[in-house]
Amino acid sequence: MGPATSRSAAWLRKTLPFLKAVTIGLKKSAGCGDRLGLATPGHVRAIRKTGVAPIFAQQSVRENERTGRTPSQVMDDALWGVFQEGWRHGFGADADHLKTADQADAFAAAGYTFFTIDPGEYVDNDAEKLSARELEQKVGELPWAELESSPSDLEHTLSEKPVDLGDFRSRFTREELMRAAVKYGKAVSHTVRLYRHLVQTMSGRLFELEMSVDETESATKLVEHVYIASELKRLGVVWVSLAPRYVGAFEKGVDYIGDLEQFQRAFARHVAVAKTYGPYKLSIHSGSDKFSIYPIAARLAGDLIHLKTAGTSYLEALRTIARCNPKLFRDILRFAEGRYPIDRATYHVSAETSRIPDAGKLDDQDLPELLEDFHAREILHVTYGSVLNQDRLRAPFFDTLRRNEEEYTQAVEAHFDRHLNPFK
Ligand code: ZN
Repeated sequence: MGPATSRSAAWLRKTLPFLKAVTIGLKKSAGCGDRLGLATPGHVRAIRKTGVAPIFAQQSVRENERTGRTPSQVMDDALWGVFQEGWRHGFGADADHLKTADQADAFAAAGYTFFTIDPGEYVDNDAEKLSARELEQKVGELPWAELESSPSDLEHTLSEKPVDLGDFRSRFTREELMRAAVKYGKAVSHTVRLYRHLVQTMSGRLFELEMSVDETESATKLVEHVYIASELKRLGVVWVSLAPRYVGAFEKGVDYIGDLEQFQRAFARHVAVAKTYGPYKLSIHSGSDKFSIYPIAARLAGDLIHLKTAGTSYLEALRTIARCNPKLFRDILRFAEGRYPIDRATYHVSAETSRIPDAGKLDDQDLPELLEDFHAREILHVTYGSVLNQDRLRAPFFDTLRRNEEEYTQAVEAHFDRHLNPFK
């Protein structure tokens, strides 16, 4: 017997090898982000019923900033959940949305095995609108030395002959290709830089890499995906998954918004690129609650899929609070409505506070239904940091979940069954 401290966790990790994060390679996988440090038991119970490899420790730099947690705390919380549920089949740990080498180092020191590089700040979202003259100027300004290439090299590799993508061939004009290079060239070069840094930092320890450009303004086109993959490969990057920005809207905590036929067509093409230049997995970011696209993704990608979820276990915590402590839930909702105009800024969401059903008119037992409402879900989803940083809410929040641990675990399990069943 001993206290559940970080020292105990370190000792357990040394003694019981299945408590140490590992790499999971090309197995189909799911990222089970947990902003509270209490959701892993529910994740384990759902994962156990599938053949999906789990990532139980997964938080982005932004999430840790908002919840005031460190990479080590997130890792320890996942460990306690894994230990409690007796999961012995291994799990990964994802340092999500890394932007700098310093951030990568902090996660590496805490034993993370999966690094998601987000070069979003280096993506030139204006590339599509440039005139021919502006385009040529921007092509000239790309970091060709760092890319160890030249415009004519690039043209020679990808636009002089059709590109063979297995199921089909595609021909890109010089202009299409150069627009792709202008949009993503600096992002590729930043990814290469961070990858090489990680190779040094990890000095022989196994790790895997994901590149994510899911938070760009416009959808990643076929030519752009080909450009990114072909360039990363040429520059010696080894990666296990890539998150394009898919067509349609992937708003937080709600289902896919867009045309499913169009998604299916575009996704099939992304799969072809991933098989040609990898194989690597297609990662679906903001993957929570996108129930209408799961069957399509599972069918087209097979095992080459990584489903990344983050805030949805937080919403299940709120469902549990709505059931077990309605007064607290009402307080949280009121506070979240006030914070939403500020907190929404860094997220893709379209909810409006004026369209949430009036909680004042609902009986306590009907409050959990608010977790089915589009507007309430998004508003509650993006305000988690503010809620958890509010002293008068934070203590009763965790207290309610600890006192109703089994209820929360079952809610998370049921919710993740719905996410994982299509990928079983
Ligand atoms: Zn993401």
